[in-house]
Amino acid sequence: MKPFDVRVRGAGIVGRSLALSLARAGMQVALQPQPARASAQPDVRAYALNAASVALLRGLKVWDALPAGAATAVHEMRVHGDATGAMLEFSAWQQRVAELTWITDAAVLERELERAVQFAPHITVVDADAGADVPATLTAVCEGKASATRAAYGVAFEQHDYGQVAIAARLIASRPHHGVAQQWFGGPDVLALLPFTLPDQVQPQPPAPSSSPSSAYALVWSLPQARAQDLLAQDAAAFEQALLQATGGAAGELRLASDRAAWPLTLARAEAWCGPGWVLLGDAAHVVHPLAGQGLNLGLGDVTALCAVIAAREPWRSLGDEKLLRRYARERAAPTWAMGQVTDGLQRLFSTTAPGAAELRNRGLTLVNHLPPLKRWLAARALDS
Ligand SMILES: Cc1cc2nc3c(=O)[nH]c(=O)nc-3n(C[C@H](O)[C@H](O)[C@H](O)COP(=O)(O)OP(=O)(O)OC[C@H]3O[C@@H](n4cnc5c(N)ncnc54)[C@H](O)[C@@H]3O)c2cc1C
Repeated sequence: MKPFDVRVRGAGIVGRSLALSLARAGMQVALQPQPARASAQPDVRAYALNAASVALLRGLKVWDALPAGAATAVHEMRVHGDATGAMLEFSAWQQRVAELTWITDAAVLERELERAVQFAPHITVVDADAGADVPATLTAVCEGKASATRAAYGVAFEQHDYGQVAIAARLIASRPHHGVAQQWFGGPDVLALLPFTLPDQVQPQPPAPSSSPSSAYALVWSLPQARAQDLLAQDAAAFEQALLQATGGAAGELRLASDRAAWPLTLARAEAWCGPGWVLLGDAAHVVHPLAGQGLNLGLGDVTALCAVIAAREPWRSLGDEKLLRRYARERAAPTWAMGQVTDGLQRLFSTTAPGAAELRNRGLTLVNHLPPLKRWLAARALDS
């Protein structure tokens, strides 16, 4: 077999985006997906994607190919504390941007990337089991947090288990969302309602009162394992009642429009991100709590950074040169570490039951809400990461 320039292991959103980006730069790429499991359920998650991620996907001709309604713009965000009235609000107009973020259907985005790969001239899809038999100058590992290839390289993966899971589902509300995302920090729960557009055919049975596509939400509800298990075991009506209670009715009545699925939550980081002829990207390198909706944005940031480092390399330097790959690792160390710390800090702040902590965090929210420059700075960090 003729050697490839790059072998990309893992065909999630990060792996496919990397393969497409490298192929557009004229490289010969072998993409090695894991065989799909027959039992795999469609992903009910929706991703909040920032401007940098959208720009990357647009450059790959994937963003504009998404079907109408697969991405919903967020113009306003309300973060509620765990005391009445404690709230932090962000808006696109205050931030002087067209939208704060885009909520994107995870399954549709994956499908569109898969289609783009099929039509990319320099990408060869190769069986993952063919591993070592696929010669390439560089192996890019995009296998997610349980990466076997990372383990085979002997790289330690430091993990902190939050003892929490995130429940995701699609919902229909009795009120339109008007492009407003809402999040409740309920200590230790964190519940996010992300404005969403449901495919026409998905309707709860019986239909929700006055439901319309603009009243749909993607739910991400992070909570301790035992409570999550209880909620997952409840029937739809009881679950919807729990949602109504947790959101205080701020989004109206909420009805399930999909199955519920759950993910265990961790903070994790690989101790090394590259070596001679290999490099880690996305969740294979770093995992953060989803409360800020930034994990995939960081992974797509890795793709952009690695491609820029490769494009700027000296003509004589090999793609697998560890010195080259360290430039990428150095560039990504700070933003990924900082996001891990911010999400971990918020998670801890809203989980602690220490005396005075609840008052402090709720006062903090209200204070920041009255400091527009600080608010703008915080939002800009989230928009750019
Ligand atoms: C509930 C929840 C909500 C989230 N919401 C957001 C959000 O709003 N915004 C955001 O930016 N991020 C969000 N995230 C984070 C986001 O899901 C991840 O950061 C992102 O999916 C990581 O992408 P990845 O391609 O690196 O890894 P993965 O999505 O895990 O993909 C890895 C791929 O590699 C394959 N693979 C595994 N092992 C092998 C192997 N040995 N050989 C070949 N292939 C292999 C897998 O099958 C998979 O296809 C959320 C996470 C959760 C849990």
